Amino acid sequence: MTGRQPTHEQLARDEMVRLGASFFQRGYATGSAGNLSLLLDDGTLLATPTGSCLGELQAERLSKVRLDGKWLSGDKPSKEVSFHRALYLNNPACRAVVHLHSTYLTALSCLEGLNTQDAIRPFTPYVVMRVGQVPVVPYYRPGDARLGEDLVALAPHYSAFLLANHGPVVTGKDLRAAADNMEELEETAKLIFILGDRRIRYLTGEEIAELRS
Ligand SMILES: [Zn+2]
Repeated sequence: MTGRQPTHEQLARDEMVRLGASFFQRGYATGSAGNLSLLLDDGTLLATPTGSCLGELQAERLSKVRLDGKWLSGDKPSKEVSFHRALYLNNPACRAVVHLHSTYLTALSCLEGLNTQDAIRPFTPYVVMRVGQVPVVPYYRPGDARLGEDLVALAPHYSAFLLANHGPVVTGKDLRAAADNMEELEETAKLIFILGDRRIRYLTGEEIAELRS
């Protein structure tokens, strides 16, 4: 073997750049919408910078932020990283966060009459197995601190959230898992619109319990 092994942090930076580009190229993210973060081994966060396009992230310019919000290095972090912190601080299983304004989940977030305890009534097994219930956080204007406050209360109990009239927030044990969970949810939201007014055979309570056990 020659050369030095890449550090955990370098691998994490490269993965964030790669997954951001993948989201952008496949239309999950457009313009400068969406942000990603992950917990590094030293307990600090690596996050996407404010105004950055997920398709054009640069590994060395990603923001490093302490869990108390102090910006340590790299470009200035996205304002939305403040609500990411609420999730890390209140759920030790949360080690990465993906927030997108992806088309179908954002469309779902704009519907009236959503079940605020669980926006996606299960009709396929995968959301139940991978994500569980998806509570709805009420609409707040961008930057409103109440968004983070609501997530503080929900964080210990859920791994994905739908921000009303805004979009999804999904967590995972690492960035890859959070990204996979996000894609599963987005595909499910797409199915909800494809199915439209047709009568859906939802999974029964028994079928859901079997998947959770
Ligand atoms: Zn947003």
